[in-house]
Amino acid sequence: MSIYEQYEIVVGLEVHAQLNTQTKIFAPDPLTFGAIPNTQVSFITLGHPGTLPVLNKAVIAKAVRMGIATHCSIQKNNQFSRKNYFYPDLPKGYQISQFDTPICYNGYVTVKVGDASRTIRINRIHLEEDAGKSIHDQNPRFSQIDLNRAGTPLIEIVTEPDLRSSEEAYQYLTEIRKLVQFLDVCDGNMEEGSLRCDANVSVRRKGVTTLGQRAEIKNMNSIRAVKKAIDYEAKRQIDILENGGTILQETRGYDMEKGTTFSQRSKEMAHDYRYFPEPDLPLVVLDETAVEQIRAAMPPLPQQLVAKYTQQLGLSEYDAQLLTESREMVAYFEALINQTTHYKSAANWLNTTIKAYLNDNNISIGQFPIAPAQIVQVIELIQQQEVSHTAAVQFLFPALLQQPETESVAHLAEQLQIVTHQDSSLMDSLIAQVLDKYPDKVRDYLYNGKKNLLGMFLGEIMREAKGKIDPKNLNQRLTEQLLARKK
Ligand code: ADP
Ligand code: MG
Repeated sequence: MSIYEQYEIVVGLEVHAQLNTQTKIFAPDPLTFGAIPNTQVSFITLGHPGTLPVLNKAVIAKAVRMGIATHCSIQKNNQFSRKNYFYPDLPKGYQISQFDTPICYNGYVTVKVGDASRTIRINRIHLEEDAGKSIHDQNPRFSQIDLNRAGTPLIEIVTEPDLRSSEEAYQYLTEIRKLVQFLDVCDGNMEEGSLRCDANVSVRRKGVTTLGQRAEIKNMNSIRAVKKAIDYEAKRQIDILENGGTILQETRGYDMEKGTTFSQRSKEMAHDYRYFPEPDLPLVVLDETAVEQIRAAMPPLPQQLVAKYTQQLGLSEYDAQLLTESREMVAYFEALINQTTHYKSAANWLNTTIKAYLNDNNISIGQFPIAPAQIVQVIELIQQQEVSHTAAVQFLFPALLQQPETESVAHLAEQLQIVTHQDSSLMDSLIAQVLDKYPDKVRDYLYNGKKNLLGMFLGEIMREAKGKIDPKNLNQRLTEQLLARKK
């Protein structure tokens, strides 16, 4: 057994999610990513003396939604607190946060790793305001500050140290991102920083039950980066312990290019934040009725949709999982099944042909040009056996992509000459045409025992037919015509 296998990795994650409200948490400034620096800043955001915060009520429902989805208890008496520290991107000199009354607490998230199901306990979800952004890499001589982000509403979701591998952390974050997106709480974009993760990592010898000393890693801008950083950090700690060293409690950054973590500041420098109740904001009371109202207005969660699709629509678990990968995908599928009862067929179109197109073009279903109503018409044409599935995929789908505003898909199919002819005359003439084209091969088939040429003839006829014939009786009629040519 290698030394690394003698250790267990222990991880606790702190996830910050920016809430996708119209305005900031305590000020009327709009939330707009990428605006010109320092243009979305009122006097409240700038922390001018005499200004007062006013709670944006929309943040409460969003935080509670997330709490309900993660099986948390909901706090009745919510108190905001001041977390005091100095930093240039924090003009007030304190951050308004929640200290001992987090809005949601004691929940859990279930994650699948391989075939195993693991329960990750949520310690708390609390509301707070984001700070501004310090920019150190645009000017060699000085740092710059952009306060547009200051006052953006955040929820911080804190797990217990329950994760046991980088893969579990990966699956947990994937699930959290999915939840915030489905609940319309946050756009979940890690590259733009609307979803951020700090990973607390420690290691211990297998069998040991006490926790090892941890390091906290910051600045990872993708779920994959979090996974890599945890693996690197765990190995680093094991190497230190194996060489007789000790782990320092510290904050470490992650270097994406090198794939390594590096020390940023040690915990000896830990701040005393002097938390105290925010005197400028009243208690927010959430009674049963208020929580029930929020619960009733919640959009369905991915797991509920999977249950609906498998139990009510008769789809496979596999199809249902694919359809619920994103909220946009669900919206498209729901639009399809509002207009057709051929559920299986609708799922197939989304999960195969459309998905392949999205992948090839690196776009999401939100950017897919064909409207659900058109796809429904395609599905109906196939069901009525007016167009074969093959012809629909090969000809109708690409034609629709060219002219997505076409109103009558049936008309388009006619223009493409792919409407199936149930009478046999077209099939007969196509067979004759192909056999006339290959007299030598016909002779080989009839007199030289080359029976496997049949496949070649079939393929050639189907190619010429461009989906216009129903291949059901083709084999039989082809054999008949071949034999009829025997002199
Ligand atoms: P802090 O106040 O320093 O942020 P917390 O006690 O709130 O510390 O813990 C922050 C995160 O660190 C939580 O997700 C928790 O599960 C995790 N954590 C705490 N101790 C350890 C440890 N020894 N190893 C790994 N993760 C830990
Ligand atoms: Mg922390």
